[in-house]
Amino acid sequence: TMEYGPAPEADGEARAWLKRHEATFAHFIAGKFVSPASGKHLTTIEPATGKSLAKIAQGVAADVEAAVTAARSAQAPWAKLGGHGRARHLYALARMLQRHARLFAVLEAIDNGKPIRETRDLDVPLAARHFLYHAGWAQLQEREFADHVPVGVIGQIIPWNFPLLMLAWKIAPALAAGNTVVLKPAEFTSLTALLFAELAAEAGLPPGVLNVVTGDGATGALLIENPGVDKIAFTGSTEVGRLIRQSTAGSGKSLTLELGGKSPFIVFDDADIDGAVEGVVDAIWFNQGQVCCAGSRLLLQEGIAETFRKRLIRRMETLRVGSPLDKAIDMGAVVAPVQLERIKALVETGVKEGAEKYQASGAIPAEGCFYPPTLLWNVHPSSTVAIEEIFGPVLVAMTFRTPDEAVMLANNTRYGLAASVWSETIGLALDIAPKLQAGVVWVNATNLFDASVGFGGYRESGFGREGGREGLFEYLKPKAWAGRKARAKLPPLPEAATE
Ligand code: NAD
Repeated sequence: TMEYGPAPEADGEARAWLKRHEATFAHFIAGKFVSPASGKHLTTIEPATGKSLAKIAQGVAADVEAAVTAARSAQAPWAKLGGHGRARHLYALARMLQRHARLFAVLEAIDNGKPIRETRDLDVPLAARHFLYHAGWAQLQEREFADHVPVGVIGQIIPWNFPLLMLAWKIAPALAAGNTVVLKPAEFTSLTALLFAELAAEAGLPPGVLNVVTGDGATGALLIENPGVDKIAFTGSTEVGRLIRQSTAGSGKSLTLELGGKSPFIVFDDADIDGAVEGVVDAIWFNQGQVCCAGSRLLLQEGIAETFRKRLIRRMETLRVGSPLDKAIDMGAVVAPVQLERIKALVETGVKEGAEKYQASGAIPAEGCFYPPTLLWNVHPSSTVAIEEIFGPVLVAMTFRTPDEAVMLANNTRYGLAASVWSETIGLALDIAPKLQAGVVWVNATNLFDASVGFGGYRESGFGREGGREGLFEYLKPKAWAGRKARAKLPPLPEAATE
């Protein structure tokens, strides 16, 4: 698309992998590909071209059952390996990702539509980092978590926005703690999970420790209902999270939910405006805005609103939208036509409800699921686009007068995943930050993640944390005998009380 840009990333190895599988994939159960019981497949498209890319198996109850059975029989030996034994496997998985970094990065860009620059610099290295970090915890397990045991068989369901990274966030802590996993990737983006499972087996991961069952939401629901699953870990929409909460109620399964967001990005009059504009670009146009913690609500203090609008629009003009494999582009394709339609409809609603629309005038490819960087200006706090998660490259902006008003507007949401505060007065920023109801608050920064920091939401953004020590606890439970042993040490109860 660019006349003098760098050559597009060569995609030969990824295409060869697809060809080797004849672009048709089975489930990965007990260490090998297993044909789907129903024989049915779903077709996934390549977002950048709109053309069909691969067929993935549609998992039915028999597939889920086979995977859960494999995970069950692998669990005791996996736990018995001990922390050091499992750490060796987690290090091997990290090295496997590093060794095949290019293949994973290209395949992810093709399958999801996200820029190769992001998959290469962020998705793949961060995924490897999660395995390295959790290998460390596995090594410390006997010392740090002596009173805890693994939960058992974990059913994990992930979304399509960071397919490989979400896989890592889910399986690294689960495996480190001695659990085994049945993973259901999103139907739009199952390829890197299948590649991962295949290469993990080659790297020596024992059969059954990681099983991948593909399919749509119906397959996910079967995994949730399966009585052999001890815990469900879900990342996805708040609507599906709610359904899962209902269907696991009373089942004895434990549950963590990482759901949607509508995170505020607050800029005060005294902020470094150019820095904040760059922050906005990262907050809402990174990954085409398909980020659960995207800074999608821009709150500007009145004194700088006009200047900010002009500089932001000027910056939007420089963003390049194009083929995910082009190393010079800033934004790739949206994941699927249905998402594109949803974004278009929400933007139309925003305009109908009174917002002014600005879109970058640069060319976007005619084929495929592309949408330009978009700003909705002068949005009323009660309008649909200020409330609903758009999950696309669309920023909504509104203004405030006082810090109190900023806090009120920021917290005026059913979500609570992240927030970003911009001010050169550190006293002001540190006064505002704890008043924001969000799982993470960034000051003069946005989208900072690390495996060692727990990530998760408040309110309708879910509960439970991923990453850090607290993330590991989600995959452990107290040892039953620990209670008895502790009780044995207590002085005997007085006579009267024992009757
Ligand atoms: P989604 O909820 O439709 O799908 C997520 C996963 O759940 C997919 O694998 C899907 O097949 C499965 N699923 C769908 N219906 C199901 C059902 N009834 N039972 C069991 N599984 C079912 O969400 P999506 O459109 O794939 O992802 C976008 C959403 O995910 C956004 O709302 C975003 O904010 C959220 N998200 C949150 C985080 C986080 O960490 N909090 C991270 C990424 C994405």
